[in-house]
Amino acid sequence: MTIQSRDYWFERAQGLKIEGRAYIDGRYVASVTGETFRSVNPANGLGFVDVASCDVRDVDIAVGAARRAFDGWARMAPADRKKILLRFAELILANRDELALLETLNVGKPITNTTTGDIPSAANCIAWSAEAIDKIYGEVAPGAWDMTTLVVREPLGVVAAVVPWNYPMSMSAWKIGPALATGNCMILKPAEQSPLSAIRLAALATEAGVPDGVFNVIPGFGHTAGKALGLHADVDCITFTGSTEVGKYFLQYSAQSNAKRVSLELGGKSPHIVLADCSDLDGAAKAVAAGIFANAGQVCNAGSRLIVEEGIRDAFLERVVSIAKALSPGDPLDPATRLGPLVDDTQLGRVLDYIDIGQKEGARLVAGGARTLLDSNGYYLSPTVFDGVSNSMRIAQEEIFGPVLCALTVRDFDEAISVANDTIYGLAAAVWTDDIRKAHRAAKSLRAGVVWVNCFDKGSMSAPFGGFKQSGFGRDKSLHALEKYTDLKSIWIAH
Ligand code: NAD
Repeated sequence: MTIQSRDYWFERAQGLKIEGRAYIDGRYVASVTGETFRSVNPANGLGFVDVASCDVRDVDIAVGAARRAFDGWARMAPADRKKILLRFAELILANRDELALLETLNVGKPITNTTTGDIPSAANCIAWSAEAIDKIYGEVAPGAWDMTTLVVREPLGVVAAVVPWNYPMSMSAWKIGPALATGNCMILKPAEQSPLSAIRLAALATEAGVPDGVFNVIPGFGHTAGKALGLHADVDCITFTGSTEVGKYFLQYSAQSNAKRVSLELGGKSPHIVLADCSDLDGAAKAVAAGIFANAGQVCNAGSRLIVEEGIRDAFLERVVSIAKALSPGDPLDPATRLGPLVDDTQLGRVLDYIDIGQKEGARLVAGGARTLLDSNGYYLSPTVFDGVSNSMRIAQEEIFGPVLCALTVRDFDEAISVANDTIYGLAAAVWTDDIRKAHRAAKSLRAGVVWVNCFDKGSMSAPFGGFKQSGFGRDKSLHALEKYTDLKSIWIAH
């Protein structure tokens, strides 16, 4: 795929007309209070659009619209919902450049990544769910000859999705695809740092033929709009992606309101193990670096803990450090840029605090560690590597969510597995080894929802994604995601 030139993106960004209002019942609306907040471009720290700041009143209106639309959408034949959602996916692709630009301006993700990754993968997710929905059958349970027992799946009703800022389009699509395909109506609350692509997406849904009220977008803050969705008595399900801390709030909101269903995709501190028998140290080093520096480390499954066997430690770390030092951040609108800024000044401050904590804990800084490209006023940080990390340090246990790699040295395979599992998280893990028995043993021993062997960050719509332990429960992607948005019903017919 050809990526447009730097000039094209800068020019297009200048002329972009950006919508900041909420989208409820098939049209754009200001928040009830008229309040707005300002979206900031992380590449230069400048505000560039006012966005509706929704609260409990807007949530109430959106939930009402979704509830009214539910019967019509849920009763539509799956093949008809499929057609509409496939059209929706086509429109996302047709508007790829605009959506990619919104995402890049809003969160600082390099334009090459948004055009070739985030936007097409969101379209693919929605198309995949749409394609699946008229190929899934119910069951006829075995029983007496004068009784027919059907086991069917039905949509839950009104689903609220609350999502983070690190992959705004993809994280939203992972919820929108399966929730709408199964016949639910939806309210999407994007993160306050990244509302713009979601707001644009809503109008594309209407253009594709999604009936009014079926898909609504409520921008706003977590403690107002997010909390109101969590506590709403007429929301049947919360599908959440974000931090473990906030995920736990949603369990409380559910308990305090209507025992709504909650599924949680939460944080991670993924171990990336390299064993001494790995013959492809160059390949492993590239994967380790990409695993922590991609998206400036703002990735839930980032391989933030490198666990390396002592025999190859020096040779391996040298390779990773030299990749880190060669990787310089740049303007995300430049197609040559591979590493953009962090999402905002809060996130930059948080990551710099952890770099300070790591040094005070006694870890050795061997690459990066400081803010860079200061003249731009953007939130840029050099790729950072800590050596001499022990697993009890805070930098090894807490999710930093930035381009910071912690290297831990272990004596052997057993210690590698035990250190890898010594965390509250269990989202993903990886191991590099030439020994097939160790590969299988590691894959079974690692307590994580996804395990990669001799690769990292592989995924497709055909395999589920989600975590063990405090990385959450419920799965996005694959046919298993459809289960989250449906309930089983047994129907007994006497004859
Ligand atoms: P966050 O938890 O701060 O926010 C996520 C969402 O929750 C946002 O929409 C926010 O507005 C809302 N929110 C915040 N406080 C709230 C409250 N008190 N009540 C209700 N809603 C509230 O997370 P973030 O900083 O946006 O994203 C980073 C986190 O997301 C990281 O922990 C990362 O690991 C996680 N994440 C997980 C996955 C996964 O699939 N497991 C994927 C991407 C990101």
